[in-house]
Amino acid sequence: MKKSILVLLGLIAIAVAVVGFRPWSDGDTAGSLPGEPRVLLIGVDGMDWERVERLIAEGRLPNLARFQREGAAGVLRSIAPYRSPSIWTSIATGKTEEKHGVEGFLVDRGHTAIATPVSSNLRRAKALWQILNAAGRTSGFIGWLVTWPAEEVDGYIVSSSFFRMLEWDRRETENQTHAGRMARAVYPPELLGEMAEFRVAADSVPIDDVAGYLGTTDHLDDAEVQSLLAEITRIHASDLTKLALAEHLTRTTPTDLVAVYFRGVDLACHTFWRHMEPETWPWELSPETVETFAPAIDRYYEQTDAIIGELVELSDESTTVIVCSDHGFAGHSGRADFEGEAATGFDMHREEGVVFVMGPGIAGGFDVADATVLDIAPTVLALLGLPVGRDMDGRVLTEIMEPALLELRPVAEIATYESGDAPEGEEPIPSPVDDEIREQLRSLGYIE
Ligand SMILES: [Zn+2]
Repeated sequence: MKKSILVLLGLIAIAVAVVGFRPWSDGDTAGSLPGEPRVLLIGVDGMDWERVERLIAEGRLPNLARFQREGAAGVLRSIAPYRSPSIWTSIATGKTEEKHGVEGFLVDRGHTAIATPVSSNLRRAKALWQILNAAGRTSGFIGWLVTWPAEEVDGYIVSSSFFRMLEWDRRETENQTHAGRMARAVYPPELLGEMAEFRVAADSVPIDDVAGYLGTTDHLDDAEVQSLLAEITRIHASDLTKLALAEHLTRTTPTDLVAVYFRGVDLACHTFWRHMEPETWPWELSPETVETFAPAIDRYYEQTDAIIGELVELSDESTTVIVCSDHGFAGHSGRADFEGEAATGFDMHREEGVVFVMGPGIAGGFDVADATVLDIAPTVLALLGLPVGRDMDGRVLTEIMEPALLELRPVAEIATYESGDAPEGEEPIPSPVDDEIREQLRSLGYIE
């Protein structure tokens, strides 16, 4: 009996293979929706809908163009005042800042001399990695904001601080205590040993690899050009390190949900907006830096599109891929309500981020019209066949799903995923790279 069922299953498998499974087709997918749904969530800090739409129209973002053609795409509305740690935590929890408690980059409890970067123990709402864990499903998070120290999960967490520590640890490899402190940057800590080799070191990136971001290579002997070139090289190397790690971990440790966070677009926008739109920058700029870096932002969008393409390649036919950002980018003119000479830091952000979804049962060519950052977590849960918490502030984007998908995995709800556990503490847990985080926030204009 058992044997004949196996034979039958084998025949069905062959039949499916012969007929050909058409992943991500926009036709009737009723018969071809796979049983083990997976989600790949790609977070791109600061990706702006207007810029993406224009670059797609110009044929410069072929991978996101494919999402738009074969899946759903549109504006993802953010929440003012567009502070990334708060928004990425809302994306991971489906809840507003009032509920999850993570506000800006730094936490000032008033009794220490300097404010401390916000840490994962201060989050007051369950994040996707905890929810999946409780449901017996696995997840892997790479570089997601506010994940230091890495929490225990079935799967892995490579915290946001880990990527800074890669730089820092290499400079001071003699200091053995660092290895111990790095352990909290990654869960499970055993992964640490194999991960350092995926680091793309900024100082080993050849000029040819970054020349594509530049309008000209005529001014490479200019000191100011050199320092900005070092900046874009660091941005480039950091995103490529995340890509390499994502490729490695998805192969060696497959999980139901993989989430990868890329910071490069936001950093490129903060650093090079003045060169792209010098008329919005009231202070002096050398013609050499303007000529060299004017195209850097659009070119970085192209690079990010290529990274997204690489990640899509990794996913199988049962994976739904979501690309989203935490906010859009208004630049130095600032948002509509900005008053002042030139917006910097958070004031450069705006409401219109992006969302792209492509996968089995997702409607093709669908224009997303009414989505917010709060809708990502509920939508991820629904795609994975898990119930949505009624206390979440977002909703499942059912309009992007074909009837066959909704029939196969009807949206279910539970009251809450919160367990009522006592919060894990009121104080942020310092990380060994806090000084570097503060230094970067200062240079971005986020803090004084
Ligand atoms: Zn920013």
